[in-house]
Amino acid sequence: MNLNDVYSEVILEHSQNKFNKKHLENPDVCKLGSNPNCGDEITLELKFDKDIIVDGSYTGQGCAISTSSASIMIDLIKGKTKAEALELANIFIGMIKKEVDEEKIEKLEDAQAFKNISNMPARVKCALLAWYTLKGILEEVANK
Ligand code: ZN
Repeated sequence: MNLNDVYSEVILEHSQNKFNKKHLENPDVCKLGSNPNCGDEITLELKFDKDIIVDGSYTGQGCAISTSSASIMIDLIKGKTKAEALELANIFIGMIKKEVDEEKIEKLEDAQAFKNISNMPARVKCALLAWYTLKGILEEVANK
């Protein structure tokens, strides 16, 4: 088994088990992200305690790539500050565009599973959807 197989298992596991697919009680923000190319419509819900992201979830419909990307992202950002989460979103986007170095990519933990998605152009938007939604939320709250 090579590393790519391990990573695709992570993607499969999250898309099947839907660990983070639920509504939060009293979320601080809900934001819809959609990818008309594929039909993905995923709403991200986040709960903050001052600067920390204490909880997160997603609802809606999407393909295996978009939903598992959202789920893995939520696991990664829980307990992080808004600034840390924004940095992770930028690293993820940079990883897909092949614009960041390996050292930074390690910070993405399980989300590194999507590294090779750039070889499948049709699925890139699916993988990026939740991360762009997260970035949008964090930029909005930062400007408040
Ligand atoms: Zn999709």
